[in-house]
Amino acid sequence: MSELRLGVLALQGAFREHVAMLTRLNVETAEVRLAQELDDLDGLIIPGGESTSMGLVAERWGLVEPLRQWVHGGRPTWGTCAGMILLAERATGQKLGGQALIGGLDVTVNRNYFGRQVDSFEADLDVPVLGDTPFHAVFIRAPAITAVAEDVETLATVASLPDGTDSVIAAVRRGPILATAFHPELTGDLRWHRLFVQIVSDFKSRSG
Ligand code: GLN
Repeated sequence: MSELRLGVLALQGAFREHVAMLTRLNVETAEVRLAQELDDLDGLIIPGGESTSMGLVAERWGLVEPLRQWVHGGRPTWGTCAGMILLAERATGQKLGGQALIGGLDVTVNRNYFGRQVDSFEADLDVPVLGDTPFHAVFIRAPAITAVAEDVETLATVASLPDGTDSVIAAVRRGPILATAFHPELTGDLRWHRLFVQIVSDFKSRSG
């Protein structure tokens, strides 16, 4: 297998932290700001930050259409937090005029699901695809997934009420698309990055 090269969309938000995690995994990584920088990538991470701002910068820099082509063309993509919002086909709680700019992942997200309860919080999540040890997840003005299409796999849920009596979806996968409502790049735990690298690597060996 040839070397993998991953990109991190670097318009706004927590892109440096993703680059640092991938570097720890010895994966060649590039910051992406121009459409042509997508050309020689095997996978792309869209980081957390602020989805409206990221969308506006993407529009201004002519990246929206190339990103749509990338995701809708079935290329491996991982959206964290704001990145997850941008990948969703449908979003609620949008700012006026806001919209899912990239789409490709058949889910509905609520942009600021936890907003009224607490701005940010941490929670230990059971994530069977990562093994038996729970993942300590950091949620920052986090979205949640409130509906998924049949072929979207739920990887983790999180309590949606303080007393833990209800839960909402916090991580999903559909084929080569991964989405997490929290920020794995802000922890020391490399398991989500390792999972995405594996997805990219499998995709690359399958497509020759
Ligand atoms: N809720 C934020 C948004 O709408 C995302 C927050 C985050 O990425 N930490 O973009």
